[in-house]
Amino acid sequence: MRKFILIILCAATLLSSFSCVVIDVDETTKSQPGSVNTSGKETSADPIGTGVETIPDITEAPGTTPPVTEPVTEAKTEADTEPKTTEPPVTEAPETMFKTDLSAFEKYMDPADPSEYLILVNPANPMTDHSYKPKDLTKLVKVREGRSSKYMREYAAKAFEAMMKEADANGCKDLSVTSAFRSYSDQESLFQYYVDKFMAKGMSKEEAIAATRVDTAYPGESEHQTGLAVDVHNLSAADQKFADKYEGKWLAENCWKFGFILRYPLGKEDITGYVFEPWHFRFVGRTHAKRIYDLGITLEEYLEKYYKD
Ligand SMILES: [Zn+2]
Repeated sequence: MRKFILIILCAATLLSSFSCVVIDVDETTKSQPGSVNTSGKETSADPIGTGVETIPDITEAPGTTPPVTEPVTEAKTEADTEPKTTEPPVTEAPETMFKTDLSAFEKYMDPADPSEYLILVNPANPMTDHSYKPKDLTKLVKVREGRSSKYMREYAAKAFEAMMKEADANGCKDLSVTSAFRSYSDQESLFQYYVDKFMAKGMSKEEAIAATRVDTAYPGESEHQTGLAVDVHNLSAADQKFADKYEGKWLAENCWKFGFILRYPLGKEDITGYVFEPWHFRFVGRTHAKRIYDLGITLEEYLEKYYKD
């Protein structure tokens, strides 16, 4: 009888040690932290934030049809069929990602159609309809004092509001919006403002245009016209130094949770066509924002890699 009990005990010990091994293997395969390089040290000043308020607000006629380059239809099916739980490394449920209660904003941060906001506008893909103006423009919170009201498309505006609530709760100070939706004519005025400034310094028109193009989008080539981009920082003018501030780092690391990406990262200037802009955030929705963040790539690379025919 004793022998029999001993055998059972041994068997039980063996079994439990086996199951322990199995559990350990599972645990190790689960932890796959993602990483992204977002901080920069370049300090060349960018004038975008300073010129905007000198331009009069222009009321355009209501937009017609959206002319924006849409990703191929596969985008939707792929995003829909791929369950989010298999993606690395969102281990948190939305409600545990935030210190504040953002449940009312969840549907905006993570839109039901994940690819609706995956639009590409850049010098190679300009807006063809100059009169394009989104129909769902919504007023933004936290607009810099003394500036006119700023707008983004509804989902982007609500997601931005959520991001600002959470930024406040995490100790970010004095963040405010310096620019958001800009119509074609706004962009035209902004561009001309800098061209004139350079010409006043003695440059020829061609030289002034080239100098302006370095960090200001040519009319029709600015994604600010999509109503999905926002410039937010806490410096007197937009500057790459924002990347070294707590607020700049917090936004760069956390913006994906609200559906935003840092659109013009450091070291990707050749791909985006723009200098590093740690203050410029673009709404794409959480599904894509998270993938882009995890991969550490730009929107151009992401669309090229996953959504090209
Ligand atoms: Zn911008």
